[in-house]
Amino acid sequence: MEKLTVRDVDLTGKRVLMRVDFNVPVENGTITDDTRLRAAVPTIQYVLEQKPRSIILMSHLGRPKEGPEAKFSLAPVAPALATLLGKDVAFADDCVGESVREAIDALPESGIILLENTRFYKGETKNDPELAAEMAKNGDIFVNDAFGTAHRAHASNVGVSEKLTAVAGLLLEKEITYLSNTIENPERPFVAILGGAKVSDKIKVIEALLSKCDKLIIGGGMANTFQAAKGVDMANSLVEVGAIDMAKDLLVKGGDKLIVPIDGRAANEFSNDAETQVYSMETGVPAGWESLDIGPKTIEKFRAELADAKTIVWNGPMGVFEMPNFAKGTNAVAEALVELTAKGATTIIGGGDSAAAVEQAGIADKMTHISTGGGASLELLEGNELPGLVALNDK
Ligand code: AMP
Repeated sequence: MEKLTVRDVDLTGKRVLMRVDFNVPVENGTITDDTRLRAAVPTIQYVLEQKPRSIILMSHLGRPKEGPEAKFSLAPVAPALATLLGKDVAFADDCVGESVREAIDALPESGIILLENTRFYKGETKNDPELAAEMAKNGDIFVNDAFGTAHRAHASNVGVSEKLTAVAGLLLEKEITYLSNTIENPERPFVAILGGAKVSDKIKVIEALLSKCDKLIIGGGMANTFQAAKGVDMANSLVEVGAIDMAKDLLVKGGDKLIVPIDGRAANEFSNDAETQVYSMETGVPAGWESLDIGPKTIEKFRAELADAKTIVWNGPMGVFEMPNFAKGTNAVAEALVELTAKGATTIIGGGDSAAAVEQAGIADKMTHISTGGGASLELLEGNELPGLVALNDK
Protein backbone atom coordinates (compact mmCIF):
# COMPACT_ATOMS: atom_id res chain seq x y z
CA MET A 1 0.00 0.00 0.00
CA GLU A 2 1.31 3.51 -0.73
CA LYS A 3 -0.06 4.76 2.57
CA LEU A 4 1.69 4.53 5.93
CA THR A 5 0.37 1.77 8.15
CA VAL A 6 0.68 1.09 11.87
CA ARG A 7 3.76 -0.97 11.05
CA ASP A 8 5.60 2.04 9.63
CA VAL A 9 5.41 4.34 12.66
CA ASP A 10 6.64 4.44 16.25
CA LEU A 11 3.66 4.12 18.59
CA THR A 12 5.57 3.61 21.84
CA GLY A 13 4.49 6.01 24.57
CA LYS A 14 1.97 7.68 22.27
CA ARG A 15 -1.71 8.34 22.74
CA VAL A 16 -2.98 6.35 19.75
CA LEU A 17 -6.31 7.70 18.53
CA MET A 18 -7.99 5.01 16.46
CA ARG A 19 -11.09 5.22 14.28
CA VAL A 20 -12.72 1.81 14.27
CA ASP A 21 -15.97 0.56 12.78
CA PHE A 22 -18.00 -0.53 15.77
CA ASN A 23 -21.28 0.08 13.95
CA VAL A 24 -22.72 -3.19 15.26
CA PRO A 25 -26.36 -4.26 15.61
CA VAL A 26 -27.53 -3.66 19.20
CA GLU A 27 -30.89 -4.93 20.48
CA ASN A 28 -31.95 -3.93 24.00
CA GLY A 29 -28.35 -3.26 24.97
CA THR A 30 -27.07 -6.59 23.58
CA ILE A 31 -24.75 -6.85 20.58
CA THR A 32 -26.31 -9.40 18.21
CA ASP A 33 -23.34 -9.65 15.82
CA ASP A 34 -19.80 -8.85 16.99
CA THR A 35 -18.05 -9.50 13.65
CA ARG A 36 -16.85 -5.91 13.40
CA LEU A 37 -15.48 -5.94 16.94
CA ARG A 38 -13.53 -9.12 16.24
CA ALA A 39 -12.26 -7.61 12.98
CA ALA A 40 -10.69 -4.70 14.89
CA VAL A 41 -8.90 -6.88 17.45
CA PRO A 42 -5.71 -7.60 15.44
CA THR A 43 -4.92 -3.90 15.04
CA ILE A 44 -5.66 -3.16 18.69
CA GLN A 45 -3.44 -6.10 19.75
CA TYR A 46 -0.67 -4.92 17.44
CA VAL A 47 -0.80 -1.39 18.86
CA LEU A 48 -0.82 -2.77 22.42
CA GLU A 49 2.38 -4.72 21.66
CA GLN A 50 4.07 -1.41 20.76
CA LYS A 51 3.46 -0.20 24.34
CA PRO A 52 1.53 2.97 23.60
CA ARG A 53 0.66 5.41 26.38
CA SER A 54 -3.00 4.68 25.60
CA ILE A 55 -5.45 3.61 22.91
CA ILE A 56 -8.43 5.85 22.31
CA LEU A 57 -11.11 4.22 20.17
CA MET A 58 -13.79 6.18 18.35
CA SER A 59 -16.64 5.01 16.15
CA HIS A 60 -20.14 5.81 15.05
CA LEU A 61 -23.16 3.57 15.63
CA GLY A 62 -26.34 3.82 13.56
CA ARG A 63 -27.74 7.06 12.26
CA PRO A 64 -28.67 9.31 15.18
CA LYS A 65 -30.33 12.47 13.86
CA GLU A 66 -30.85 14.71 16.89
CA GLY A 67 -27.72 14.44 19.02
CA PRO A 68 -27.32 11.85 21.79
CA GLU A 69 -29.89 9.03 21.76
CA ALA A 70 -29.57 6.13 24.21
CA LYS A 71 -30.35 3.50 21.57
CA PHE A 72 -27.30 4.59 19.57
CA SER A 73 -24.91 4.61 22.53
CA LEU A 74 -21.64 2.70 22.17
CA ALA A 75 -21.69 1.91 25.93
CA PRO A 76 -22.59 -1.81 25.42
CA VAL A 77 -19.58 -2.20 23.13
CA ALA A 78 -16.95 -1.46 25.81
CA PRO A 79 -17.58 -4.59 27.95
CA ALA A 80 -17.97 -6.77 24.82
CA LEU A 81 -14.63 -5.56 23.51
CA ALA A 82 -13.02 -6.02 26.94
CA THR A 83 -14.09 -9.68 26.85
CA LEU A 84 -12.62 -10.16 23.37
CA LEU A 85 -9.34 -8.49 24.34
CA GLY A 86 -9.11 -9.93 27.86
CA LYS A 87 -8.30 -6.40 29.04
CA ASP A 88 -10.24 -3.52 30.60
CA VAL A 89 -11.88 -1.06 28.23
CA ALA A 90 -13.01 2.21 29.80
CA PHE A 91 -15.91 4.19 28.32
CA ALA A 92 -16.34 7.96 27.97
CA ASP A 93 -19.83 9.34 27.48
CA ASP A 94 -18.65 11.88 24.92
CA CYS A 95 -16.11 11.88 22.09
CA VAL A 96 -14.62 15.36 22.60
CA GLY A 97 -14.06 17.86 25.42
CA GLU A 98 -12.17 18.40 28.64
CA SER A 99 -13.79 15.52 30.54
CA VAL A 100 -12.82 13.09 27.79
CA ARG A 101 -9.21 14.29 27.85
CA GLU A 102 -9.15 13.87 31.63
CA ALA A 103 -10.45 10.32 31.30
CA ILE A 104 -7.74 9.61 28.72
CA ASP A 105 -5.04 11.08 31.01
CA ALA A 106 -6.33 8.94 33.88
CA LEU A 107 -5.87 5.68 31.95
CA PRO A 108 -3.19 3.29 33.19
CA GLU A 109 -0.14 2.73 30.94
CA SER A 110 -1.37 1.20 27.62
CA GLY A 111 -4.96 1.52 28.84
CA ILE A 112 -7.87 1.48 26.40
CA ILE A 113 -10.87 3.78 26.29
CA LEU A 114 -13.85 3.77 23.94
CA LEU A 115 -15.44 7.14 23.23
CA GLU A 116 -19.16 7.74 22.71
CA ASN A 117 -20.76 7.77 19.23
CA THR A 118 -19.13 10.38 16.99
CA ARG A 119 -22.44 10.93 15.18
CA PHE A 120 -23.94 12.46 18.30
CA TYR A 121 -22.34 15.57 16.77
CA LYS A 122 -23.87 16.86 13.54
CA GLY A 123 -20.44 18.05 12.44
CA GLU A 124 -19.24 14.44 12.15
CA THR A 125 -20.92 13.64 8.83
CA LYS A 126 -20.25 17.21 7.59
CA ASN A 127 -16.53 16.75 8.20
CA ASP A 128 -16.60 19.89 10.35
CA PRO A 129 -12.97 21.04 10.85
CA GLU A 130 -13.62 22.37 14.38
CA LEU A 131 -15.03 19.03 15.50
CA ALA A 132 -12.10 17.25 13.82
CA ALA A 133 -9.65 19.54 15.68
CA GLU A 134 -11.34 18.67 18.99
CA MET A 135 -11.17 14.96 18.18
CA ALA A 136 -7.50 15.28 17.24
CA LYS A 137 -6.72 16.66 20.73
CA ASN A 138 -7.48 13.16 22.07
CA GLY A 139 -4.38 11.61 20.50
CA ASP A 140 -0.77 12.10 19.34
CA ILE A 141 -1.14 9.95 16.24
CA PHE A 142 -4.16 8.72 14.28
CA VAL A 143 -4.89 5.20 13.05
CA ASN A 144 -7.78 4.66 10.68
CA ASP A 145 -9.02 1.08 10.79
CA ALA A 146 -12.67 1.79 9.92
CA PHE A 147 -13.11 0.32 6.47
CA GLY A 148 -16.91 0.49 6.72
CA THR A 149 -16.83 4.31 6.67
CA ALA A 150 -13.73 4.84 4.52
CA HIS A 151 -15.95 5.78 1.54
CA ARG A 152 -17.23 8.81 3.49
CA ALA A 153 -15.36 12.02 4.28
CA HIS A 154 -16.29 12.54 7.91
CA ALA A 155 -14.64 14.44 10.77
CA SER A 156 -13.53 11.26 12.57
CA ASN A 157 -11.66 9.88 9.58
CA VAL A 158 -10.78 12.51 6.94
CA GLY A 159 -10.96 15.54 9.26
CA VAL A 160 -8.72 14.05 11.94
CA SER A 161 -6.26 12.79 9.29
CA GLU A 162 -5.61 16.42 8.36
CA LYS A 163 -4.63 17.30 11.95
CA LEU A 164 -2.43 14.36 12.99
CA THR A 165 0.00 11.95 11.36
CA ALA A 166 -2.51 9.46 9.98
CA VAL A 167 -1.84 5.80 9.18
CA ALA A 168 -3.87 2.75 8.19
CA GLY A 169 -4.72 -0.03 10.60
CA LEU A 170 -4.27 -3.70 9.71
CA LEU A 171 -7.94 -4.25 8.85
CA LEU A 172 -8.05 -1.29 6.48
CA GLU A 173 -4.83 -2.51 4.88
CA LYS A 174 -6.24 -6.03 4.47
CA GLU A 175 -9.49 -4.81 2.93
CA ILE A 176 -7.57 -2.70 0.40
CA THR A 177 -5.24 -5.60 -0.40
CA TYR A 178 -8.13 -7.88 -1.30
CA LEU A 179 -10.74 -5.52 -2.71
CA SER A 180 -8.36 -3.33 -4.66
CA ASN A 181 -4.90 -4.85 -5.24
CA THR A 182 -6.11 -8.42 -5.84
CA ILE A 183 -8.89 -7.29 -8.13
CA GLU A 184 -6.59 -5.02 -10.14
CA ASN A 185 -4.02 -7.82 -10.55
CA PRO A 186 -5.98 -11.05 -10.18
CA GLU A 187 -4.73 -14.53 -10.70
CA ARG A 188 -6.85 -15.70 -13.65
CA PRO A 189 -9.43 -16.89 -14.41
CA PHE A 190 -11.03 -14.08 -12.39
CA VAL A 191 -14.79 -14.56 -11.92
CA ALA A 192 -17.06 -11.95 -10.37
CA ILE A 193 -20.49 -12.85 -8.99
CA LEU A 194 -23.08 -10.14 -8.46
CA GLY A 195 -26.53 -10.45 -6.97
CA GLY A 196 -28.90 -8.57 -4.72
CA ALA A 197 -32.05 -6.67 -5.32
CA LYS A 198 -31.48 -3.86 -7.75
CA VAL A 199 -29.46 -3.68 -10.93
CA SER A 200 -29.58 0.13 -10.96
CA ASP A 201 -27.47 0.21 -7.75
CA LYS A 202 -24.77 -1.88 -9.38
CA ILE A 203 -24.47 -0.66 -12.97
CA LYS A 204 -21.12 1.00 -12.34
CA VAL A 205 -19.84 -2.13 -10.58
CA ILE A 206 -20.96 -4.31 -13.49
CA GLU A 207 -19.18 -2.05 -15.98
CA ALA A 208 -16.01 -1.81 -13.90
CA LEU A 209 -15.86 -5.57 -13.29
CA LEU A 210 -16.62 -6.44 -16.92
CA SER A 211 -13.41 -4.68 -17.91
CA LYS A 212 -11.35 -6.65 -15.36
CA CYS A 213 -12.84 -10.13 -14.98
CA ASP A 214 -12.96 -13.16 -17.27
CA LYS A 215 -16.58 -14.00 -16.36
CA LEU A 216 -19.30 -12.00 -14.65
CA ILE A 217 -22.11 -14.08 -13.14
CA ILE A 218 -25.36 -12.29 -12.35
CA GLY A 219 -28.03 -13.71 -10.05
CA GLY A 220 -30.58 -12.50 -7.50
CA GLY A 221 -33.29 -9.93 -8.06
CA MET A 222 -31.05 -7.97 -10.39
CA ALA A 223 -30.93 -10.90 -12.82
CA ASN A 224 -34.70 -10.55 -13.28
CA THR A 225 -34.16 -7.35 -15.25
CA PHE A 226 -31.67 -9.16 -17.52
CA GLN A 227 -34.13 -11.97 -18.06
CA ALA A 228 -36.85 -9.43 -18.91
CA ALA A 229 -34.37 -7.83 -21.32
CA LYS A 230 -34.09 -11.22 -23.04
CA GLY A 231 -37.87 -11.28 -23.46
CA VAL A 232 -38.72 -13.68 -20.61
CA ASP A 233 -42.10 -13.05 -18.95
CA MET A 234 -41.16 -12.29 -15.33
CA ALA A 235 -44.80 -11.81 -14.14
CA ASN A 236 -44.78 -10.25 -10.65
CA SER A 237 -41.01 -10.51 -10.12
CA LEU A 238 -38.95 -7.53 -9.06
CA VAL A 239 -37.99 -6.03 -12.44
CA GLU A 240 -36.64 -2.52 -12.97
CA VAL A 241 -38.49 -1.53 -16.11
CA GLY A 242 -36.40 1.63 -16.44
CA ALA A 243 -33.20 -0.44 -16.51
CA ILE A 244 -34.26 -2.97 -19.18
CA ASP A 245 -32.60 -1.05 -22.05
CA MET A 246 -29.41 -0.74 -20.10
CA ALA A 247 -29.51 -4.48 -19.35
CA LYS A 248 -29.90 -5.11 -23.10
CA ASP A 249 -26.80 -2.97 -23.77
CA LEU A 250 -24.83 -4.80 -21.08
CA LEU A 251 -25.83 -8.20 -22.53
CA VAL A 252 -24.41 -7.09 -25.90
CA LYS A 253 -21.31 -5.49 -24.38
CA GLY A 254 -20.67 -8.42 -22.03
CA GLY A 255 -21.16 -11.09 -24.70
CA ASP A 256 -19.96 -14.50 -23.52
CA LYS A 257 -18.43 -12.96 -20.42
CA LEU A 258 -21.79 -12.14 -18.89
CA ILE A 259 -23.52 -15.19 -17.42
CA VAL A 260 -27.20 -14.82 -16.49
CA PRO A 261 -29.70 -17.39 -15.11
CA ILE A 262 -31.27 -19.96 -17.41
CA ASP A 263 -34.05 -20.91 -14.98
CA GLY A 264 -35.42 -19.81 -11.63
CA ARG A 265 -37.57 -20.68 -8.65
CA ALA A 266 -40.88 -18.83 -8.65
CA ALA A 267 -43.26 -18.42 -5.71
CA ASN A 268 -46.97 -17.64 -5.62
CA GLU A 269 -46.35 -15.12 -2.83
CA PHE A 270 -43.42 -13.43 -1.08
CA SER A 271 -43.24 -15.91 1.78
CA ASN A 272 -41.08 -18.81 2.86
CA ASP A 273 -44.20 -20.98 2.90
CA ALA A 274 -45.26 -20.02 -0.62
CA GLU A 275 -45.95 -22.63 -3.27
CA THR A 276 -42.93 -22.86 -5.55
CA GLN A 277 -42.27 -23.89 -9.12
CA VAL A 278 -39.15 -23.95 -11.28
CA TYR A 279 -39.62 -21.89 -14.45
CA SER A 280 -37.55 -21.94 -17.62
CA MET A 281 -36.69 -19.12 -19.99
CA GLU A 282 -39.27 -20.53 -22.40
CA THR A 283 -42.16 -20.80 -19.94
CA GLY A 284 -41.35 -17.67 -17.97
CA VAL A 285 -42.77 -17.02 -14.50
CA PRO A 286 -46.44 -18.09 -14.08
CA ALA A 287 -48.93 -15.21 -14.07
CA GLY A 288 -49.19 -13.64 -10.61
CA TRP A 289 -46.02 -15.41 -9.36
CA GLU A 290 -42.56 -13.99 -8.70
CA SER A 291 -39.01 -15.25 -9.10
CA LEU A 292 -37.25 -15.46 -5.72
CA ASP A 293 -34.20 -17.63 -6.42
CA ILE A 294 -32.07 -19.00 -9.24
CA GLY A 295 -33.09 -22.47 -10.44
CA PRO A 296 -31.30 -25.87 -10.44
CA LYS A 297 -29.98 -25.59 -14.04
CA THR A 298 -28.62 -22.14 -13.27
CA ILE A 299 -26.88 -23.49 -10.16
CA GLU A 300 -25.21 -26.14 -12.32
CA LYS A 301 -24.25 -23.55 -14.93
CA PHE A 302 -22.80 -21.18 -12.33
CA ARG A 303 -20.83 -24.04 -10.75
CA ALA A 304 -19.42 -24.98 -14.15
CA GLU A 305 -18.42 -21.38 -14.88
CA LEU A 306 -16.69 -21.21 -11.50
CA ALA A 307 -14.92 -24.57 -11.77
CA ASP A 308 -11.44 -23.37 -12.75
CA ALA A 309 -11.60 -19.87 -11.22
CA LYS A 310 -8.50 -18.69 -9.34
CA THR A 311 -9.86 -15.39 -8.07
CA ILE A 312 -13.52 -14.87 -7.17
CA VAL A 313 -15.23 -11.80 -5.86
CA TRP A 314 -18.86 -12.06 -4.75
CA ASN A 315 -21.30 -9.30 -3.90
CA GLY A 316 -25.03 -9.82 -3.36
CA PRO A 317 -27.21 -12.91 -2.73
CA MET A 318 -28.58 -15.10 -5.54
CA GLY A 319 -32.12 -14.95 -4.16
CA VAL A 320 -34.16 -13.95 -1.14
CA PHE A 321 -31.72 -15.85 1.08
CA GLU A 322 -33.37 -14.58 4.28
CA MET A 323 -36.11 -17.17 3.56
CA PRO A 324 -34.59 -20.69 3.74
CA ASN A 325 -36.67 -21.98 0.82
CA PHE A 326 -35.13 -19.33 -1.42
CA ALA A 327 -31.56 -19.57 -0.11
CA LYS A 328 -30.64 -22.60 -2.24
CA GLY A 329 -28.91 -20.62 -4.98
CA THR A 330 -27.00 -18.47 -2.51
CA ASN A 331 -25.95 -21.51 -0.48
CA ALA A 332 -24.87 -23.38 -3.63
CA VAL A 333 -22.63 -20.50 -4.65
CA ALA A 334 -21.27 -20.31 -1.10
CA GLU A 335 -20.46 -24.04 -1.21
CA ALA A 336 -18.80 -23.71 -4.61
CA LEU A 337 -16.61 -21.00 -3.13
CA VAL A 338 -15.68 -23.22 -0.17
CA GLU A 339 -14.42 -25.84 -2.64
CA LEU A 340 -12.51 -23.22 -4.61
CA THR A 341 -10.86 -21.82 -1.48
CA ALA A 342 -9.81 -25.35 -0.53
CA LYS A 343 -8.25 -25.72 -4.00
CA GLY A 344 -6.15 -22.60 -3.42
CA ALA A 345 -8.31 -19.95 -5.10
CA THR A 346 -8.69 -16.50 -3.55
CA THR A 347 -12.33 -15.95 -2.54
CA ILE A 348 -13.37 -12.43 -1.62
CA ILE A 349 -16.81 -11.64 -0.23
CA GLY A 350 -18.16 -8.09 -0.32
CA GLY A 351 -19.69 -6.67 2.85
CA GLY A 352 -23.39 -6.38 3.68
CA ASP A 353 -25.80 -9.10 2.53
CA SER A 354 -23.20 -11.37 0.92
CA ALA A 355 -21.22 -11.41 4.16
CA ALA A 356 -24.47 -12.14 6.04
CA ALA A 357 -25.28 -14.96 3.58
CA VAL A 358 -21.87 -16.55 4.10
CA GLU A 359 -22.29 -16.27 7.88
CA GLN A 360 -25.78 -17.79 7.61
CA ALA A 361 -24.38 -20.68 5.54
CA GLY A 362 -21.84 -21.28 8.35
CA ILE A 363 -18.82 -21.11 6.07
CA ALA A 364 -17.40 -17.69 6.91
CA ASP A 365 -14.09 -19.18 8.06
CA LYS A 366 -13.66 -20.95 4.72
CA MET A 367 -13.36 -17.80 2.60
CA THR A 368 -10.11 -15.95 1.95
CA HIS A 369 -11.56 -12.58 2.89
CA ILE A 370 -14.97 -11.29 4.01
CA SER A 371 -15.26 -7.54 3.86
CA THR A 372 -16.57 -5.58 6.85
CA GLY A 373 -17.94 -2.77 4.68
CA GLY A 374 -20.81 -3.00 2.19
CA GLY A 375 -20.76 0.50 0.69
CA ALA A 376 -16.98 0.82 0.87
CA SER A 377 -16.41 -2.55 -0.82
CA LEU A 378 -18.77 -1.59 -3.67
CA GLU A 379 -16.86 1.68 -4.11
CA LEU A 380 -13.60 -0.25 -4.42
CA LEU A 381 -15.17 -2.71 -6.86
CA GLU A 382 -16.27 0.28 -8.94
CA GLY A 383 -12.63 1.33 -8.95
CA ASN A 384 -13.22 4.50 -6.90
CA GLU A 385 -10.85 5.98 -4.35
CA LEU A 386 -11.90 6.01 -0.71
CA PRO A 387 -11.63 9.47 0.92
CA GLY A 388 -10.73 7.89 4.28
CA LEU A 389 -7.75 6.20 2.65
CA VAL A 390 -6.69 9.11 0.45
CA ALA A 391 -6.46 11.32 3.57
CA LEU A 392 -3.77 9.13 5.19
CA ASN A 393 -0.05 9.97 5.03
CA ASP A 394 1.82 8.62 2.02
CA LYS A 395 4.70 6.23 2.58
P1 AMP B 1 -28.65 -5.68 -2.19
O1 AMP B 1 -28.77 -4.84 -0.96
O2 AMP B 1 -28.90 -4.95 -3.46
O3 AMP B 1 -27.39 -6.53 -2.20
O4 AMP B 1 -29.88 -6.70 -2.12
C1 AMP B 1 -29.98 -7.69 -1.15
C2 AMP B 1 -31.42 -8.10 -1.06
O5 AMP B 1 -31.84 -8.57 -2.31
C3 AMP B 1 -31.67 -9.22 -0.08
O6 AMP B 1 -32.44 -8.71 0.98
C4 AMP B 1 -32.45 -10.25 -0.90
O7 AMP B 1 -33.57 -10.75 -0.20
C5 AMP B 1 -32.91 -9.45 -2.08
N1 AMP B 1 -33.16 -10.30 -3.26
C6 AMP B 1 -32.33 -11.19 -3.81
N2 AMP B 1 -32.93 -11.83 -4.84
C7 AMP B 1 -34.18 -11.34 -4.93
C8 AMP B 1 -35.29 -11.61 -5.78
N3 AMP B 1 -35.22 -12.53 -6.74
N4 AMP B 1 -36.42 -10.90 -5.60
C9 AMP B 1 -36.48 -9.97 -4.61
N5 AMP B 1 -35.47 -9.66 -3.78
C10 AMP B 1 -34.33 -10.34 -3.93
